[in-house]
Amino acid sequence: MKILQGIPVSPGYRVRTAYLLNADGIQITEKTFSDPSRADAEKERFLEAVESSKAELYGEKERLRALLGQDMLQILVDYHLTLLDDKNMREEVITRIGRDLNTPEYALSLSLRRSIKALQGSDNEYLRQRVADLKDFETRLQRHLQGLRQESMSDLPVEVVIVARDLTPAQTVGLDRNKVVGFVTESGGPTSHTAILAKGLGIPAVVAVNGITNDILGGETIIIDGVKGKVMIDPNAKTRAEYEALEEEYNRAQVLLRTEFRYLPAETIDGRRMRLYANVEFPQEVDSAFEYGAAGIGLYRTEFLYTGRRQIPDEESQFKVYREAAEKFKNRSVVIRTLDLGADKIAEEVSNIKEMNPYLGWRSIRLCLGRPEIFRPQIAAILRAGAYGNVKMLLPMISTLEELGSAKRVIESVKDDLRKRKVTFNPDISIGAMIEVPSAALQAEGFADEVDFFSIGTNDLIQYTLAVDRINERVANLYQPTHPSVLELIRQVIDVGAQRKVEVTLCGEMGGDPLMTLLLIGMGLRDLSITPMAIIRIKQIIRNITFRHAREVAHNAMKLSTAGDIENYLREELAAIST
Ligand code: PEP
Ligand code: MG
Repeated sequence: MKILQGIPVSPGYRVRTAYLLNADGIQITEKTFSDPSRADAEKERFLEAVESSKAELYGEKERLRALLGQDMLQILVDYHLTLLDDKNMREEVITRIGRDLNTPEYALSLSLRRSIKALQGSDNEYLRQRVADLKDFETRLQRHLQGLRQESMSDLPVEVVIVARDLTPAQTVGLDRNKVVGFVTESGGPTSHTAILAKGLGIPAVVAVNGITNDILGGETIIIDGVKGKVMIDPNAKTRAEYEALEEEYNRAQVLLRTEFRYLPAETIDGRRMRLYANVEFPQEVDSAFEYGAAGIGLYRTEFLYTGRRQIPDEESQFKVYREAAEKFKNRSVVIRTLDLGADKIAEEVSNIKEMNPYLGWRSIRLCLGRPEIFRPQIAAILRAGAYGNVKMLLPMISTLEELGSAKRVIESVKDDLRKRKVTFNPDISIGAMIEVPSAALQAEGFADEVDFFSIGTNDLIQYTLAVDRINERVANLYQPTHPSVLELIRQVIDVGAQRKVEVTLCGEMGGDPLMTLLLIGMGLRDLSITPMAIIRIKQIIRNITFRHAREVAHNAMKLSTAGDIENYLREELAAIST
């Protein structure tokens, strides 16, 4: 399995066959000719190609209007039409044919090369983006000069994900909407043709995937993750099954989202109100969290600001990102987690130390406490964003009370700095601890005195309780969310929270698994933070159960002694719920 990263531009998931669209296989075989009497015929051939390109473009414009019912792509077609009518370009080509005895193909290429170079060197971003348009334009004209037909996306035998260097409006004409179900391109950005087209059609797409056209021959199974921007070629069985489930869930959620369901509360039949928050890993997910009707952001992971960067992000740029989320959710809470780097979340620029046991090593809060030049600007940015909405700060990987005390002292000292700098911030920001190490769960009482809220990170809690590396496939069967010991730790934290009036959220993946909903609600949780898309499905289950039943299920499950038995029991109970 090969995994590539690109930019997600249109959300959704696909597991399909890859179809490689060979965009520009055009070659110029003859550059000059020696007989001057041929010049007139060659000029004529060029002008004919201009005319037939024009006719083709007018046809495309009409079909694009029918396909998308919008003008954006038509603007691109118009740009090509303007270029075709450009007198200077035409005269330059004609001169080269007559004076230098260049073939029209070569003359055209030389003329456009100059314009492309000029655009590439421009300071203006818009002009630089026009380079791709000029290249498309050249391909079109060359194709007409050489009498080639354009490869189209109609007549496809099965549903496919199109893989291409870039998609031109011309290629998308005649696209069979029943067969083309995803796009991946090597170039492009959030405003590229592909992005516009994919969003217009509601088809998942990932652009700027380096090297994809070399890695694909066509016919392979490909997965595209239009939410996180990942592309996987020849996936293994586990990943494939995971994404097939995601695709199904996503599609189902889309249908429900178009109804009033989005606005309904996550409330059980007997009136127990739950709050479903969103986990956000990338800033673009803030919008989907909002769309899926999240009660707020329950976990804003901030590692994306650090990974793949050469420099540590400064306070100002972080502040901007956090403030945007805070303002979007107004008074709904936005829980920003301080940096949780290390182990599976690697940023070599920050921690390039090789460790024997990275999961037990210098990661997360441990790293932050040792690197104040990283920690302090982030704390300052979060405190400042707190002045623009209901922002809370969450400290990850806390394992001892001393560690929590140190982190809180740093926060106080950063507040002093901000006061001295006379910068606006929220001095009363809520501070929470992630409960993801068994020592913290077992000592929840002690932690309750020190923080405003708990967030149970089951992804790590399971790994540290059962001594199982969460990403090691060889021991995946031992990674058991329903292990009685894990459930016992969760229960203890929930109980302490209830006694001490400390809010408890669960933010691990387990919260988004429908199989766990009855159990977790029955254990007394009210707040779950899950991937935005899962909100729909979990809400659907909540609205079809009673709290009474959930309590009974939790009670029964906790009496069983193996993870397998508990899981089987939960499966039966879930199957009996009609949703
Ligand atoms: C967790 O550990 O459960 C969690 C939510 O955090 P992450 O997956 O980012 O470690
Ligand atoms: Mg964690």
